[in-house]
Amino acid sequence: MKIALVGIGKIALDQHVPALNASPDWELAATVSRSGTVPGVEAFTRIEDMLAARPDIGVVSLALPPVPRFAVAEAALKAGRHVMLEKPPGASLAEVQALERLATEQGVTLYTSWHSREAEAVAAAKAWLKGKTVKSGHITWREDARKWHPGQDWIFEAGGMGVFDPGINALSILTEILPMPVHLTGAELDFPSNRAAPIAARLRFAQAITADFDFRQEGPQTWDMEFITDQGDIALRMGGNLLEINGKPAGGENTIMGEYPALYARMAGLVRSKTSDIDLRPMMLVADAFTLGQHNRVEAFEF
Ligand code: NAP
Repeated sequence: MKIALVGIGKIALDQHVPALNASPDWELAATVSRSGTVPGVEAFTRIEDMLAARPDIGVVSLALPPVPRFAVAEAALKAGRHVMLEKPPGASLAEVQALERLATEQGVTLYTSWHSREAEAVAAAKAWLKGKTVKSGHITWREDARKWHPGQDWIFEAGGMGVFDPGINALSILTEILPMPVHLTGAELDFPSNRAAPIAARLRFAQAITADFDFRQEGPQTWDMEFITDQGDIALRMGGNLLEINGKPAGGENTIMGEYPALYARMAGLVRSKTSDIDLRPMMLVADAFTLGQHNRVEAFEF
């Protein structure tokens, strides 16, 4: 199937293009980006031009930041194309619901992808937790914004989500693996004095789960989740890639190279079966953190 990739930046070049090139399902047939291109692939700068010029391309994958994504997704759906969205699927919940209605009207697939759910140990953690009672849990998601997102000012603008850009990955795993639903009871968000989005957040969930997200972590980086259950302890480390049961290694592999091939295989299955996969739960928790959270002002941040 022919696919167009929109927003040729960091994640498109790091993950989407290699995953598409290695896939038996997909042919990367066009790109849409103001300046980014992929050698050997027809390049457009406006979505409207690509949609008009290439009726043979039935699927559009969006790797843009969340704020400019809606207009592009809407144009692609209105043109009858199937659409795959990077995480977070939009800048607001209501706009993703509008896309969902449009996809249903048009009879095409919409996929809100969550790449961290495809990490090596997530499925095994979900299987282990099934049927157990989670008594408490803690998430530590602390990384260095300067190392992973150099110069990406959009992350600290309104709609960029700040530390929730990585933190939502933890919430996508949380909502996938737990045997029960979770909801937020409180949050504290730290906003740099010169930015519109938080650089750190501490969350409390009703289910005795807490989370600590921080974008200022220098040195070793931490992407861990730990849970105590009625039948032992489980931990996911390195962003869902390594599993620990009762303090002992229990599988997984420390790589992120499997995540995007799995997303594109899923998208191929959704298109073939004419279905959509739309899950807003991780984003709902982020929205609730902004609603419920106490907002603190902290030191200015520059890349
Ligand atoms: P990025 O490199 O800053 O942006 C991707 C591309 O989108 C840019 O190169 C730019 O291409 C285009 N773009 C940026 N701002 C735009 C705007 N206001 N209007 C129109 N086009 C714009 O971002 P990224 O790191 O790839 O992240 C993109 C999405 O992927 C985000 O939702 C992020 O959460 C997700 N993601 C990122 C990573 C990561 O490690 N970076 C990992 C997983 C998921 P042109 O200038 O050529 O138009």
